[in-house]
Amino acid sequence: MNKELYSKLIFEHSRPGRKGYSLPAYDYGTSTEMPRHLQREVKPELPEVDEPTVVRHYTNSSNNNFGVDTGFYPLGSCTMKYNPKTSEKAVGLAGVADLHPAQPEWTVQGALETYYTLQTYLSRIGGMAEFTLNPYAGAHGELTGLMVIRAYHADRNDVARRKVIVPDSAHGTNPASAAIAGYEIVEVKSRPDGTVDTDDLASKLDETVAAVMMTNPNTVGMFEKDIPRIAELVHAAGALLYYDGANLNPMLGVARPGDMGFDVMHINLHKTFSTPHGGGGPGAGPVGVRAGLEKYLPSPRVFRDESGVFHVGKGEKSLGRVSSWLGNYTVFIKALTYILSLGEENIKHVGPLATLNANYIMYGLCDLYKLPIPGPCKHEFVFDGLADKSTGVTTMHVAKRLLDFGFHAPTIYFPLLFHESLMIEPTETESKETLDSFIAVMREIAREAAECPDKVKEAPHSTPMRHPDENEAALHPLTTWKQLQPTY
Ligand SMILES: *Cc1c(COP(=O)(O)O)cnc(C)c1O
Repeated sequence: MNKELYSKLIFEHSRPGRKGYSLPAYDYGTSTEMPRHLQREVKPELPEVDEPTVVRHYTNSSNNNFGVDTGFYPLGSCTMKYNPKTSEKAVGLAGVADLHPAQPEWTVQGALETYYTLQTYLSRIGGMAEFTLNPYAGAHGELTGLMVIRAYHADRNDVARRKVIVPDSAHGTNPASAAIAGYEIVEVKSRPDGTVDTDDLASKLDETVAAVMMTNPNTVGMFEKDIPRIAELVHAAGALLYYDGANLNPMLGVARPGDMGFDVMHINLHKTFSTPHGGGGPGAGPVGVRAGLEKYLPSPRVFRDESGVFHVGKGEKSLGRVSSWLGNYTVFIKALTYILSLGEENIKHVGPLATLNANYIMYGLCDLYKLPIPGPCKHEFVFDGLADKSTGVTTMHVAKRLLDFGFHAPTIYFPLLFHESLMIEPTETESKETLDSFIAVMREIAREAAECPDKVKEAPHSTPMRHPDENEAALHPLTTWKQLQPTY
């Protein structure tokens, strides 16, 4: 078939004059007509299609995608998990969906109460004095937290603190946020067991350090058991300890960053508290602080007065705005719905189950995949590719072959500590049957790698797109079919 005809049949559904709607005739005269100079000269190039064609187009396109509603999605460091449909329902309620952020306070007392309640619950979960819900994402929370830390030092006239210490295993957003906040980044080494080298840390701490950023469990899924010692060292040097709470899952309801000595933290609601993510949002990265730091939190904040009325206001020494209005309100509603539906009784099972699931997969595969840091792990772990590397089958090949079996690939080539990183996080919400079938498939891929490596190297065999040029796809993405040169 001719290339042009092929793309048209597949992608081009528009036919001149075809419509999927009808509107009543316009009968209000011509007085409301837009002034000539504001009118388009050229008609917009909109597709002209009938309703069934539109519905089929979007339904078929969505079937070409992969999501947590289609299959197991074990991305480490991203926590793609259960997104209860009840949360979506809560967000769709008229009292939530029809609000306008500029409404007067007295008309939105219920909304302010839900906001305040979530602030309070997160403070209890994190062991912090106060939370702001304003930041839009984890990275944004990190930046906000570092701005709080800077405001704290500036307020004490302690202005020589220009450095932020970050472990070499940290998520890339940690050094990036510190740089955006105007700090110099100092890296601290990990020990062979994946945890932070406390001697190396101690040698780098002095009166020029503003903060140390830690993730616990860290990004290789190891619990930083020296945290009390680290907190002591950091505080003795006059610096503050920041907790990257993207990995809060395995500790939820079991251990609290505030009790471990952390001063400032963020939580990714779109990871730990069930908001679906991917494709850029919306998310939320609330920031919590220990007592004494709440006055620096960004504005606006929600306060409750003695008579139980809620007000929007700002802290005494607030660092100002980091978001428009109060942040991503629908994400807060989903988080609150999730917390309330679990309740205090059940929330403490989240961490242990996430940990159990990760260890179950790790021990089910560690004879065939290389485990550089022996377990047990927390909620996620890293393999350094296949144990047998002689076949030339890489982590990239394994990831692509998984797609043929209906599984999303784990996170690959992160963390950078190993050449063939394959980072797996099942989350607490997957059943034993799902984990078993994932283990069976990973074992099957290892067998194929040994017996018919080309089959793995040429994967995926069954996806709508097979082998895009990865560099080209990132540098020059084709955003419309008109740019497409089909390969058939
Ligand atoms: C996801 C993640 C972040 C960044 O969060 P975003 O919401 O993607 O900005 C930071 N640290 C860790 C450990 C993460 O997993």
